[in-house]
Amino acid sequence: MFPAKIWRECPQRYRWQGCQCSKCKRVLFPPRQICPGCGGRKMKPATLPRQGRLLYYTIIHNPPPAFNDQGTYAVGIVELDNGVQITCQIVDVEFANLAPGMRIVMEFRMIQKDGDAGIIAYGYKAVPSGEHNFIAEVESAK
Ligand SMILES: [Zn+2]
Repeated sequence: MFPAKIWRECPQRYRWQGCQCSKCKRVLFPPRQICPGCGGRKMKPATLPRQGRLLYYTIIHNPPPAFNDQGTYAVGIVELDNGVQITCQIVDVEFANLAPGMRIVMEFRMIQKDGDAGIIAYGYKAVPSGEHNFIAEVESAK
């Protein structure tokens, strides 16, 4: 990852910041200039909730070169409690325990390192929160 890209993405990466459309109130992440919902162009910064749930996931066995040092890892689509969906790594969990619907919390972690002496990029990863997901339990009991 190039330093300019890391610098440009600082607010969203480090402050967990998206934007909210002033017209229709939709929250967007990553931030955009034009709202895809209503075409509105007036945005204000919006801090995202840290809690959400896992929608889908997959296990990456053959990572791209930039993630070679991480071995096998899980990536998923998470829906935050305000409805924003993001793709991110899911960490601190046995792969066998991953399940759609499980509650997660977003934590600030190292994302990747650019070589041994290079830039270390930080961002958010999803960690199972251990909270019960009553909706998933009811659905699985059917
Ligand atoms: Zn809008």
